[in-house]
Amino acid sequence: MVCVHCRTLTNHYLIITDMKLSNIGQQLGRDAGIVSLMEDLGDALNVNPNMLFLGGGNPAAIPAVERRLAAHLQAIVSDPQQVNKLLGVYQSPQGNETFIAALAKYLQKTQGWAITERNLAITNGSQSAFFLLFNLLAGRDTEDCERKIYLPLVPEYLGYRDQALSPDMFKSFRPEIELLGDHRFKYKIDFNALTIKEDIAALCVSRPTNPTGNVLTDEEMQRLNALSCEHNVPLIVDCAYGAPFPGILYQPVNNVWQPNTIFVLSLSKLGLPGVRTGIVVAHEAIIEKLVCANTIVSLANGNLGPMLGTKLLLEDNIDALCQQTLLPYYEQKRKLMLELIARYLVGHDYRIHASEGAFFLWLWFPSLTVTSEILYQHLKQRNVLVMAGEHFFFGLEEGWPHSRQCLRLNFCQSEAVMTEALIILADELHRCRYR
Ligand code: PLP
Repeated sequence: MVCVHCRTLTNHYLIITDMKLSNIGQQLGRDAGIVSLMEDLGDALNVNPNMLFLGGGNPAAIPAVERRLAAHLQAIVSDPQQVNKLLGVYQSPQGNETFIAALAKYLQKTQGWAITERNLAITNGSQSAFFLLFNLLAGRDTEDCERKIYLPLVPEYLGYRDQALSPDMFKSFRPEIELLGDHRFKYKIDFNALTIKEDIAALCVSRPTNPTGNVLTDEEMQRLNALSCEHNVPLIVDCAYGAPFPGILYQPVNNVWQPNTIFVLSLSKLGLPGVRTGIVVAHEAIIEKLVCANTIVSLANGNLGPMLGTKLLLEDNIDALCQQTLLPYYEQKRKLMLELIARYLVGHDYRIHASEGAFFLWLWFPSLTVTSEILYQHLKQRNVLVMAGEHFFFGLEEGWPHSRQCLRLNFCQSEAVMTEALIILADELHRCRYR
């Protein structure tokens, strides 16, 4: 090795044991909840196929959808001009022009949104769109105020939590719990608790909500929209599972775009998590800032997602694909999972959140004797991967026992996997009582 001071060969080498990291370096370099989640996912889906995977948010492999995507991919790779566009050209900062034009027309026509191409930007997955939006809007401002992202209802998507580059960026609120029958419940925004202060930077919700499958009602959305207008801050709506695509919604919803709304869409849950394509629909002023930030961080977006997306919009029928293939597939999986839970958890004290969208069930065990994190660890030792609930309750000012009594189960797997996992879950719940 060459010594940087005297330029001579030396045996010295640097052992980075006590690496000095910046505050942001520590924040980004730590073993965050989303990192563990993706490690579990990667392990189960890429390395250790014997795991019973009811964990992360990978969409199901739906053969009819994959066949359509493969046909579009084939058409792209068999045309030399498109191959060059796919592999040999950096995308423009705002995103692929053809995709943006097709999206603008589609959203105007099918959703009735009064937008133009200037209200759209593409990112490398919606996860990175959130990182940019949160840090553009919240954090310390020029008047020395620590501005915050308000989450009107937790549990909320844990992937937001560690994206904050400034401390305590999220301020969240406990929901009201409505008990439904013997084994169901639903969270509702507690508008009495949702007190908004001057530090608000934006309101943010996922609809359907990851982890619960809750879908905020149209009335709740109207009230949030009114608050967003009253306080002159954006209302960010994460549509990763919702309308218009992939449309994994078990009941119809209204999605109204207004200049204060930021809709964040994604191609991932449609069956394309590997192409990393997010879409932001927002006021032009926000789009301009987002495009600059995305270019600074990523230089350009990947080309494959927008090219496949363009084919789905212009040459295929994306709505039919979602409504006639994707949705029935998930509906049938959800029905099966509900039946299996009723069969295998009989005699246990459990409640399931009203399943209104997405591909998870959220279980609440009111008399759980260990934390959901410990239950997760026990299940993992027995090859069952689930998501412990407590990671989804961030930004609360006070602790809440309920936050340690819930699990999220993904229902994209085969009947055999779901059955075996539930038998082990029932056994672990039983053991917990006597441990
Ligand atoms: N939002 C929600 C609610 C999610 O569940 C996910 C991923 O699971 C994302 C955003 C990020 O998705 P992607 O970056 O694949 O678009």
